Amino acid sequence: MPSLADVEKRIEKTTSCWLWKGNIANNGYGIIKKRPKLFLAHRVVYQLYRGEIPKGLPLDHLCRVRRCVNPSHLEPVTQRENVLRGNGLAAINARRTHCKNGHPLTGANLYIAQRAKGRTERHCVPCQRSATRQWRLRTKVQLSTDTTGGTRAQAMQ
Ligand SMILES: [Zn+2]
Ligand SMILES: [Zn+2]
Repeated sequence: MPSLADVEKRIEKTTSCWLWKGNIANNGYGIIKKRPKLFLAHRVVYQLYRGEIPKGLPLDHLCRVRRCVNPSHLEPVTQRENVLRGNGLAAINARRTHCKNGHPLTGANLYIAQRAKGRTERHCVPCQRSATRQWRLRTKVQLSTDTTGGTRAQAMQ
């Protein structure tokens, strides 16, 4: 991996972003060559200043400046979070204004479920309600057909 001296001379530190003065890849990220390998500048800088990147996770640019290598603008994220922050299909989905059945996802219609690690899930209340109703109907049917099945299963053990 390139050393601190290798990268320092290629950084232009502004009051916020640290702009990469070295080579820039087609996708906008800074790159640095250290034979025989090519490294992503922001990942190298992060590791030099902060240490190991947990589980080799992708680093997200909180400032959205791809050639920025300021470690405090970089945050390791899971692929899922990265997708949600970007403009992929999942991100658009997370920001959608209507559910798949056309209910507007606002006010009383919108239920935000808290998930692990500060994640949230957006649910449509009317759809959720009818899903619960259908689930109850299904289980009722199962319960009524299961009465003999239950005893037979026990007898087999
Ligand atoms: Zn930045
Ligand atoms: Zn709905």
